[in-house]
Amino acid sequence: MFEDIPVEVGLVYEGERIRKEDMRVELGGPKVSEKFEIILVKGQDEIEDGKIFIKGQDLSELEEGKSYPIGILVEVSGEKLENDLEGVLERRIHEYFNYIQGVMHLNQRYDIWIRVGKKSFSKGLTSFMQIGSALISLYRNELPIIEKIQITFFTGGEEFKSYYHKAMERYENRDSRARGLLDEEVDTFYGCALCQSFAPSHICVITPQRYANCGAISWFDGRAAARMDPDGPIFSIAKGDLIDCEHGEYAGVNEHASRRSMGEVDRVWLYSAFGYPHTSCGCFEAIAFFIPEVEGFGIVHRRFAGPTVNGLAFSTLADSTAGGRQIEGFHGISIEYMRSVKFLQADGGWNAIVWMPAEIKNTLTGIIPDSVVSAIATENDAQDVASLKTFLIDNNHPLVSGWREEESEEREIETGYSGNAPVFSMGELPVMAGGIKIILKNAKIYAEKIIIQPVDNKNLKSGGK
Ligand code: SF4
Repeated sequence: MFEDIPVEVGLVYEGERIRKEDMRVELGGPKVSEKFEIILVKGQDEIEDGKIFIKGQDLSELEEGKSYPIGILVEVSGEKLENDLEGVLERRIHEYFNYIQGVMHLNQRYDIWIRVGKKSFSKGLTSFMQIGSALISLYRNELPIIEKIQITFFTGGEEFKSYYHKAMERYENRDSRARGLLDEEVDTFYGCALCQSFAPSHICVITPQRYANCGAISWFDGRAAARMDPDGPIFSIAKGDLIDCEHGEYAGVNEHASRRSMGEVDRVWLYSAFGYPHTSCGCFEAIAFFIPEVEGFGIVHRRFAGPTVNGLAFSTLADSTAGGRQIEGFHGISIEYMRSVKFLQADGGWNAIVWMPAEIKNTLTGIIPDSVVSAIATENDAQDVASLKTFLIDNNHPLVSGWREEESEEREIETGYSGNAPVFSMGELPVMAGGIKIILKNAKIYAEKIIIQPVDNKNLKSGGK
């Protein structure tokens, strides 16, 4: 099946990482501003079945160690294919590239990042023709609904530019379809388990108002995919009873999450980064990360190269977020989800956002409410938490009034008032137990009740008996 490619192809290579020193060449990625991959459904007579075109330089002509623009256009036709399936078929490009030994593919759409390793290159993987041939075989084999397929690779030039702009328009058209439809208006959500090879306990729950984390699959895409292949990696989820509308908890979602994660995740709050947050695989377009010093969220997207306001880069925050876990305060999201009125609804929505890169703030002009937009800092306003705090105070961010209330509660506690929730904030809090010392730096501890007892050393030595 893969006789045209000199390296192995299979599931076993999914998840393979190619480090900078091991790469022959990089396509797309953070050093390249324009890149894309797209699938378009076409008429039967518009496709030359099995054809692979290369517009620009081929792999062998690209200089070792350098980064290049890349465009991947896959055109397919088939009697039962519909345009709604484009997004879902397109997501398979990521999967299939990663099946190829010595090839790494990250992200999706306009954010793709591909590396071809030196070892595979020296084995003879030197042409897009070989990669295209493997992709065509995989698509044909796994998705018989595709009757004809042709692939074009672009590595620059005028045609690349023109298709890049066409792709951006097509993504926007797909995304805008789902806007306006409410979660309350449908009986069915969709789940996607495509990323379980990287994050075994993760499924994306795709609702009209919570786009998939990767930003590549809308509710409409999910519906089309589940209809085409009900037993496939994208499946329908009957919503079931609404347990909590504020947090977005549904019985049907909990049931599916539990079953598909082998019991790892049994509750999901769709609209919160706390409690039981939606899991994050690793393909998220952006991260909402909690900044305890200001009690609000920063947001960073993949394209942002610099450190965020807490000094950590996207890649470091991504390590804390990914893996299919429910990590409170580290939340993988798509850019499209930020357009939803359900965006972090239970945590305060846009009123809880304090910092984000200027690029996405500009993209979301008209979406971020007027009441808070000027109070959200970017990298141009605040580069660390101290300057962020000053900015938020100067711009009267909605969270600031909450800090003032908290400060006055703290003062009341210091003066002997015993309220419901005492708050202690300490620079360093050592906890001694079982021969080890854990130091909680700048921890804040909320307790309903504090019991202070004298310690009897004799009892301690005898184990308290
Ligand atoms: S991020 Fe979610 S929707 Fe996207 S491919 Fe992975 S599991 Fe599917």
